[in-house]
Amino acid sequence: MEIKKLKNLFYDLTAHLAVTGVMSALLFFYTADTRLILLCVLGGILIDIDHLFDYFLCFGIRFNLKKFLCGEFVKSGRVYLFFHSWELLPLILICGLYFNLNWEAAALSLGMLGHLIIDSSFQKTIKPYFLSYRAWHRFKADEILPCMKNKKRLLKNGDDGGCR
Ligand SMILES: [Zn+2]
Repeated sequence: MEIKKLKNLFYDLTAHLAVTGVMSALLFFYTADTRLILLCVLGGILIDIDHLFDYFLCFGIRFNLKKFLCGEFVKSGRVYLFFHSWELLPLILICGLYFNLNWEAAALSLGMLGHLIIDSSFQKTIKPYFLSYRAWHRFKADEILPCMKNKKRLLKNGDDGGCR
């Protein structure tokens, strides 16, 4: 695995752990409810489980950790990442209101909010994290991900664009 990819992965995980840790600590301070903390962690860290869906679509059921961590499933040319969607936040909150699970919905949304802010700041754009935007582009990675757009442009000049 390239050093640059490892560094990016390390920064990404560290940022997610730090932000989710702070949010979980605040939740615990105000509510002392471990269920809410688990939901916040689910939204803040385990949201990345949707990368597995993209991975299995690309490589089938044979799992290779290195390929997964390097994000090589982007080579499929499609990016679905269904849980990485801003649209889910109001939907979860509305469901929370409807089912009278306000705190649970707020905790899950809070974790997801932190995760999406970090991912958006790393990509320097929020657009790829709208499900509607990805659907509009028919989930084509080279139209959705800034690094893939760069890569396409730079490949013409003999550079790989540093895309993860
Ligand atoms: Zn993510």
